[in-house]
Amino acid sequence: MMRASLDDYELDEDDYALLADDYELVEHAAVAPRPVLAIVGRPNVGKSTLVNRIVGKRVAVVQDTPGVTRDRVYYDAQWADRDFTVVDTGGWEIDVTGIDRSVAVQSEIAIENADAVLLVVDATVGVTDADEHIVDLIRRSGKPVVLAANKVDSPQQEADAAYLWALGLGEPFPVSALHGRGSGDLLDQAMRILPRQSQVNYERPGEGPRRVALVGRPNVGKSSLLNMLAGQNRVVVDDLAGTTRDPVDELIELDGQAWTFVDTAGIRRRVHLQRGADYYASLRTQRAIDSAELALVLIDASVEITDQDLKVMQSVIDAGRAMVLICNKWDLVDEERRRYLDREIERELVQMPWVERINISAKTGWHTNRLTRAMEKALESWDKRIATGQLNSTLGELISAHPHPVRGGRQPRILFATQVSVQPPRFVLFTTGHLDHGYRRFIERRLREQYDFTGSPVEIAVRARERRKR
Ligand code: GDP
Ligand code: GDP
Repeated sequence: MMRASLDDYELDEDDYALLADDYELVEHAAVAPRPVLAIVGRPNVGKSTLVNRIVGKRVAVVQDTPGVTRDRVYYDAQWADRDFTVVDTGGWEIDVTGIDRSVAVQSEIAIENADAVLLVVDATVGVTDADEHIVDLIRRSGKPVVLAANKVDSPQQEADAAYLWALGLGEPFPVSALHGRGSGDLLDQAMRILPRQSQVNYERPGEGPRRVALVGRPNVGKSSLLNMLAGQNRVVVDDLAGTTRDPVDELIELDGQAWTFVDTAGIRRRVHLQRGADYYASLRTQRAIDSAELALVLIDASVEITDQDLKVMQSVIDAGRAMVLICNKWDLVDEERRRYLDREIERELVQMPWVERINISAKTGWHTNRLTRAMEKALESWDKRIATGQLNSTLGELISAHPHPVRGGRQPRILFATQVSVQPPRFVLFTTGHLDHGYRRFIERRLREQYDFTGSPVEIAVRARERRKR
C-alpha cells in the first residue's frame, strides 16, 4: 500500500489537494458564524418541502441509529457562494386543540433567533387568519422578510399570486417548492435581505478557553450541575486573552483551568411556555452544541433512558463535537436500577462505545471532580492528528491480516489513506471500489483501538477511484 501506486488511478484535483504534503488541516472551530434564515408559515404550506429544496440532499441523510428520528431544526445551506443556516419550523407536532397558538409560538421563537425571515404562504389557498397572525409577528420583530407564494406549479398560476402584495411584505415570489420552479429567484432575494454578519449566531473563536455545552432534556439536572460548578469553583471574570464577551456564556475555572460554558443563560432561564417549550429546548440545545467544542450530555440515571436523551447525543455526533456522557442523580440509583441502566446503555448506545460515561450527583457533588479529566481526554481525541506514514502502516498491517471480502468476483482494496481534518478527526480512504458498511465500521474500530479516540466522533470517507487506462 504505497502512495506511488496511486499514480495508476484516476485522481482529480481535489484528490491531489488532499494528498498534498502541506495540506492544511481544517479546523471547524475557525468557521465564522453564519447568518440565520428562518422559514416560517402555517402548517401544510410547504415549508419542509422548501427546506429540502434549499438544503438539498443533506436532509435526507439516512439515520443509522434505530429508534432515533431526525428532527433537526438547523441546517447548513449555500446559495450563490454564501453560507447560511436555515431554521425549519415545519414538521413539528401540532396540538389539534390549539393549532394557531402553537404555530405562533414556534414561529415567534424561530423569528427571534433569525437574521431574516422567509414567509411561506400557500398561493392556492389564499391568506388565512393564521397567515395574518404570522405577518404581524414578523412586522413586530422588525426583521427583513421575503415572501414566498408556494404551490405555483405552472406559469398560468403565476398571476394568481399577485394578490399577495396586499400582505404589505413587498413582492411575492411565486415558487413551486415541489418542482423547484422559481426557487432560484426566491433565494437570490433571500440573499439580498440576509445580512452578511449574523447578529444571532454565536462567534466560535479558535483560541481562548475551550468551549463546553451542557445539554440534555429538561429536568436531568443541568442547572443544578452548573450552579454546583459555578458555586464551588471560581467564576472567572477577568480579561482573559481570547475570551468572548458574550453575556450568555460563563467562564468557570475547574482544577486550575478556565472553561467557557456556553449559553448558561439558556440553562438558567426557566421557560414558562405552555406550548413550544420542546421546540425551544431543541433550538437551544442545537445552538449550544454548534457553538461549543465539547458537549456534556446529561441524563437522569434514576429513570429509563428516553428517545429524547438519544436525540441529544445524536445531535452532538451530527455536529461533530466531542462528547462526555454524564449519568446524573446517582444518589437515587440503587443496585437494581444500576443493573437496568447498564443494560439500557449497552442496548441503546451500541453505536457509540467510544463515549466515556461518568456517574455523578449534582446534588451532593459526588464524583463531579472526575469531570475535567474526561473533558480533557475527549478534547485531546477531538484534536488528534495521525501522521500519514503511521496511518498507512497501521492500515497496511490491518488489511493484509483482514482483507475486504470478495464481492461479485471483485475485492476492493485500500490504496492509501490520509487524515484530512481534526476537530473531529476525519480520514479519507482511497480505494479501488466501494467498501462494505461493516468493513468501514471494522476499520473505524481498529483505528480507535490503535490511536484511542475516546470521546470524539471519527469520520471515515471513502473515495473509490478507477484504474487509469493505459
Ligand atoms: P409544511 O407543513 O409547511 O412543512 O408543509 P409540507 O412541506 O409538509 O407540505 C405540505 C403538503 O404540500 C405536502 O403534501 C407537499 O407535497 C405539498 N407541497 C409542498 N410544496 C408544494 C408545491 O410547490 N406544489 C404542490 N402542488 N404541492 C406542494
Ligand atoms: P435541568 O432542567 O436539566 O436544568 O434540571 P434541574 O437542575 O432544574 O434539576 C431538575 C430536578 O432534579 C431538580 O428538582 C433538582 O433538584 C433535581 N436534581 C438535579 N440533580 C440531582 C441529583 O444529582 N440528585 C437528585 N436526587 N436530584 C437532582
